[in-house]
Order: sequence, then C-alpha cells, then structure tokens
Amino acid sequence: MKLTGHLIIGASDVGATEGTMKALNPATNQLIELDFALGGAAEVDRAATLADEAFDAYSHTSLARRAAFLDSIADNLDAVRTELAARAALETGLPEAQLEGEAAKAATQFRQFADVVRKGRFLQLAVDPAQPDRLPRPRMDHRLQKIAIGPVAIFGASNFPISYSVAGGDTASALAAGATVILKAHNAHPGASEIQARAIRKAVQEHELPEGVFSMVRGSGNAIGEALVDHPLVQAVTFTGSERGGMALYRRAQQRPDPIPVFTEMTSVNPTFILPHALATRGAQIGDGFVERMLVNVGQACLKPAILITIEGDGFEALRAAMVKRVNEAPARTMLAPGIHASYRSGLAAMENAGARRIAEGAAPSGEWEGQSALLEVEGAHFLIETVLAHEAFGPSALLVKVRDEAELLAVARAFKGQLSAAMHLEDGDRALAHRLLPVLERRTGRIVVNAFAHPQEVTFATVHGGPFPATSDSRFTSVGMTSIERFLRPVAYQGFPDALLPEALRDANPLKLPRIVDGQ
Ligand code: NAP
Repeated sequence: MKLTGHLIIGASDVGATEGTMKALNPATNQLIELDFALGGAAEVDRAATLADEAFDAYSHTSLARRAAFLDSIADNLDAVRTELAARAALETGLPEAQLEGEAAKAATQFRQFADVVRKGRFLQLAVDPAQPDRLPRPRMDHRLQKIAIGPVAIFGASNFPISYSVAGGDTASALAAGATVILKAHNAHPGASEIQARAIRKAVQEHELPEGVFSMVRGSGNAIGEALVDHPLVQAVTFTGSERGGMALYRRAQQRPDPIPVFTEMTSVNPTFILPHALATRGAQIGDGFVERMLVNVGQACLKPAILITIEGDGFEALRAAMVKRVNEAPARTMLAPGIHASYRSGLAAMENAGARRIAEGAAPSGEWEGQSALLEVEGAHFLIETVLAHEAFGPSALLVKVRDEAELLAVARAFKGQLSAAMHLEDGDRALAHRLLPVLERRTGRIVVNAFAHPQEVTFATVHGGPFPATSDSRFTSVGMTSIERFLRPVAYQGFPDALLPEALRDANPLKLPRIVDGQ
C-alpha cells in the first residue's frame, strides 16, 4: 500500500490544513521521508458530523451484517500484516516479528468481536411481560435492550502501535457496539496508523456502510484532542496514555455543557508480591521471570511488573542475585519516542532522589533514544514514606522492595493506589498470608494473578484490563476483553409497545433467536 500522508475522513483523503509532520525513526534518530497532514478543529467537525450522520444507519445494521463488516476488517488487516509490521517497526524501534504478532492479534480481536455481535448477548435483552391482573395495580409490558452510545472519539496509544492504536481493541469494541468512530492517531507512528485506517475504511466501503462509520484525524499539540473532546456530537471518549493527558481530557469532558463518559487507561506499576514459602523454594526462578516480563516492549507496557515486594528471609539473596544478573545482561534498546525516553529517565531520577538505590543496570545506550535497564532497591519502611517510589517509570526498570515482616508487607500493599493488575507468588504454606493480602489487592486492582505475571494478556470474556484510579478513570469497565464493549452501550426500555413497533430482538416470537431474560428467568 502506498502511503499518502492524508487524513482519512469518511470516504475522503484530506490534505494538510495545519501544516505537516514527518515520522521519526527512533533507532536512527532520522526523520522518514513523507509528509503527513495535520488537521484541526475543522477536520474534527467534518469527521464528527459524518460520524453523527452515519450513526442511525450503522447502529441499526443487522447483527449479521455488522459481524461480517468486523470480519472484513480482520481480513483487510491480515492482507497488510507484513507491510504494517515493517512500517510500525520503522516508526517505533520495536522488533518487526513482535509487530507481526501484534497485527495478527488485532485482526483476531475483530473476529472475536464479530462473534460477540453474532451471539447478541451484549444487547442484554430483557422482557418483562404485562401483568394486567397484578394488584394493587397492573404492570405494563417493559422490554430492554442496550444500544450504542453514539459517535466515539478514540485516542490511539503510542506503546502498542497496532493492538492499542487505530485498529486496536477500542476501535473493535466500539464498532461492535454499533458506535461510529473518530480516531485520533498518535503522532509517534503516522504511517502505521494510515495503513490501519485504510484497512478499516476499505471494509466500510466493501459493506456499503455510510462513510462516517470511521474517520482518522491527526494534529499537532493539544488542540485537536481538545476539539474532539469538546465536539457536541461526540458522545464518549477512550484514551490510553499518561495520567496527565488522560485527566486533562477527562476534566475537559466533565466541563462540557453535556458531560460525556471518558474511559482513560493511564498508569499502573502492577505490584508483585512473593510470599515467604514461594521465596524460599523458587526465589531465583521468580526473579528471573519477573525481569524477563519487565523488559518486554522495552518496559513500555501498561502491564509491566514494575515493583516487586517480598519479606527478607530464605531465598531473598537468590531472588536478588537472579534479578541483578538478568538486568546487568540486558542490552539497551530503542524506546518509542524522545518524549517517552525523557520521561523514563526523569522518572528513574526521581526515584533515586527519593532514596532508591540502583543495584543493577544494563548495557550503556549507544543510540540517542535507547533506554538503559535498571534495578532499584529500597526498604519497605522507606517506601511507605516516599510516595514517588510507587509512581510508574515507563521503561525498562523495576524496584525491589524488601519488607521486614507480614505486617509491613500488608502496609506496603495498602499504600498502593489503583492498579491494572497485581500478582502473588505463593506455595501451600503461604495460604494464610494470601487470604489476608487478597482483600487488600481486590480493593486496589482489576486483576489478581497467582504464580504468573499479568503480561502477556489474553483477550477473553473474563479479561479485566481496568482498575481504580489512577489505573483508569472508571473502575467499572475494562478496556480489553469482550466485555469492553459495555463502555459504548446504554440501556433503553420500551414500555407498552405494540409487537410490530418493537426492535426485532425484543419481539414476542424472538425472531433473532437471541438469549433474553424473560420475567426474571
Ligand atoms: P500522552 O502524552 O498522554 O498522549 C496520548 C495521546 O493523547 C496523544 O495523542 C496526545 O496528543 C494526546 N494528549 C495528551 N494530552 C493531551 C491534552 N492535554 N489535550 C489533548 N490531547 C492530549 O501519552 P504518550 O505520548 O503515549 O506517552 C507519554 C507517557 O504516557 C509515557 O511516557 C508513559 O508514562 C505514559 N503512557 C502510559 C501507558 C500505559 O499503558 N500505562 C501507555 C502509553 C503511555 P499529542 O501526542 O499530540 O500530544
């Protein structure tokens, strides 16, 4: 596919109105030849207007047609997988083979959501028939289905340039819900974004859907994102990125005359607890596995295990030695973008200034934007007074927290704010402590993993990628997994309707043969 650098607004390729930008190859620190168009409020307005015009028709497509559309997006992504991975590698410094896997995962997600749509359970259909003889007063017929919330603005993430970006889970779940999408592309990978946007638009055209079902805009600075969040036709926002950016957009949306939901996924250190029997029996093995997962994606992953907490005792020295060895052996690798590289370095410096000691570091960087791996260590008592030590340093580093006893381990667990995940490594002899730790973790995270790490992540019905603030801005929802569709749905009740006027899914004969709760059963 030949890249053109245009914005993709409905069926139109739109040129620059607010200047152009080039992609940076962070591995060579060279700009890549090709100008990408930047747009502004006018382009957001055009995309939002088209998304609104398309909404009624698209949200009322039959489940079969919508599912076929999602399957076609998957096919179109598969067809460009090699060139998409190659371009994403050029723009992110991530390995091409890893990005091929990410592209395959993105396509699979669209197929999974096609299946969700076909089965129709997400509509959460309920039928409460009339009870004309009920005393003291009769009950009217009530029926419920979930409908799409409206046009959705999606901010593509920087760190997974496909599966959390233009063709990522947010787009797949929003389109599955019947919402129309305006995607704000991340400027760190404009070429990969264009390839994905064209694959989605091709499917819109193949299925003769209204052009406004999908658009992709790009701009420089905050103006374009602000215009999206402010646009009166946009009805929900999703965001993956920094706490600062996410909260700025969240607050902005709440100040609209008509506030709208903003689902942000922001920051998490994914605390990992090794309980004493597990430490004694397999400390070195756990330490090795922890560092391996910490280094995935050069540490630029929302599920990176960043903080390991354990009671100093049998097995501790073996754990520490394994972690030190593994970090010392880690090569420096290119980070996604200069800004992310800078914030990694300043995050590490802040932790060292707060008293964490560097006990291991990987090979020194040779490229401009390479991240050097680091392992820091601190005592539990110190961790409890320096809140900055619990902040995320987005990159290849981790903090080992040594605690004195079970009471201090529980105090450290209680000190964490909301997280996407937490992990416990345990043996049978650790059950009593695990029972005490579990409720502390449940209050603070959306996912608890035993004897493994949260990363890599499966995309299933039971997946939760969410958690209390600041992991996300709304802990009731997940941003990954099949139930992430619920972010884009709202319930509508139909009361006293004649059968022929009801949505098909709610008619007496259940013509679509969908699962329904009838009179509570
Ligand atoms: P970011 O700076 O938060 O930006 C994400 C997206 O939101 C970009 O498209 C950005 O546009 C836009 N944006 C941010 N603040 C905005 C504002 N106030 N108004 C309007 N638009 C705004 O995130 P990033 O560039 O991906 O990475 C920066 C840092 O975020 C990382 O160093 C890391 O700490 C964190 N991060 C965390 C995760 C995670 O999963 N935990 C994932 C990615 C990043 P512009 O690019 O045009 O500014």
